[in-house]
Amino acid sequence: MTAHTKPPTNDLEAFWMPFTPNARFKADPRFVERAEGMYYYTPEGRPVLDATSGLWCVNAGHCRPRIVEAIQRQAAHLGYATSFNLGHPKAFELASRLANLLPGDIDHVFFTNSGSESVDTALKIALAYQRARGKGSKTRLIGRERGYHGVGFGGISVGGMVNNRKQFGTLLAGVDHLPHTHDPDRNAFSRGRPQHGGEAFADALERIVALHDASTIAAVIVEPVAGSAGVLVPPTGYLERLRAICDRHDILLIFDEVITGFGRLGAPFAAEYFGVQPDLITMAKGLTNAAVPMGAVGVRGGVYETLMDGSEGGIELFHGYTYSGHPLACAAGLATLDTYRDEGLFARAASLARAFETAVHSLAGAPHVVDIRNLGLMAGIELASRPGEPGARGREAYHHAFDRGVLIRVSGDTLAFSPSLIVEPSQIDQIVAVTREVIEGLE
Ligand code: PLP
Repeated sequence: MTAHTKPPTNDLEAFWMPFTPNARFKADPRFVERAEGMYYYTPEGRPVLDATSGLWCVNAGHCRPRIVEAIQRQAAHLGYATSFNLGHPKAFELASRLANLLPGDIDHVFFTNSGSESVDTALKIALAYQRARGKGSKTRLIGRERGYHGVGFGGISVGGMVNNRKQFGTLLAGVDHLPHTHDPDRNAFSRGRPQHGGEAFADALERIVALHDASTIAAVIVEPVAGSAGVLVPPTGYLERLRAICDRHDILLIFDEVITGFGRLGAPFAAEYFGVQPDLITMAKGLTNAAVPMGAVGVRGGVYETLMDGSEGGIELFHGYTYSGHPLACAAGLATLDTYRDEGLFARAASLARAFETAVHSLAGAPHVVDIRNLGLMAGIELASRPGEPGARGREAYHHAFDRGVLIRVSGDTLAFSPSLIVEPSQIDQIVAVTREVIEGLE
């Protein structure tokens, strides 16, 4: 065990860590103990600049006092109430605030506890909607290669990351996938949106419709910018064309905004940034600044009304979670939205995006770098894999950056950056400088 890693307890065995090579981690662990603003602090008190907003989620920075105090007050006031047949004011207040922030006529909100639950909820709403309007044969769900939609059975079925799927059998039936939009031959080192291939990639949906028939397809789900697969930015025209094809064939379009929501691109949601209106939006992460787990699905008025009209006064959707609209999460969500608004954080992200782009693209030409991709305050730097050892360079870069005081995220050999919207220009410089040192030190 090396000096940077002192764990607070000797027993590392019991905790089966998620998405982690447990044996490798436990042989050489790295710990953080507290956080504030842009920094984590190790048990020894060493600051680690967080270049990933936790896990794309702490958009306003860590442990913001206003959010902390709201949670503390709520815990002492009403720690829990079910939302099944019972109301508490903050759930309604947060839903209304979100409805105002969400684009277009997305004006109803269903609460969940995570991005995965939001995705499965959105897929179920899509199926229930088609059935309620008498189109019960529309049951197919279309995702995309390299998509990440969490870890529920719905999410991994429409998702397109093979490692997340291959251990779990046959998944949901009746799912098909669009091709991913990554085209390094034509689009490598694009600054912002890539220029090539957008409409042709979207036209693959026409082929899927021709194969299955529109009368069998309920919904298409995509991340506006694919995050977990390594920051894959949609080429120009892509999302617009997907919307047009969905309209032509009466198919719902779901944007999974678990990462892109709440200012990541410099607008409240990516739908607004791209000027493309989906029918449903899934969200989580930045909704509460990750201070209390919470997710939500935003739903267009027409979809909601159809389900209400079809119910004959009974329960309109047989779906919900014990913790849907949890009071602590609602208090955290309201304080988070106040923080974004009062500190102008979405506009701040927009104003930093160009400097961030220039900074990350300064790494073009560094050893092993085969592509750099960016939009808003998200960026991916793809390294060539070491022959025979895919993922090794990414893993080593992660460890070396941590040891040099910067937390990055890796997906295979792609380094991903998504700093909080409070990041200072000098901190962007530090992130890039440390990344350069680390990359230059890799074999
Ligand atoms: N959807 C997207 C686009 C995500 O990026 C994630 C998580 O990173 C999820 C869904 C799943 O969210 P959670 O881990 O909160 O279940």
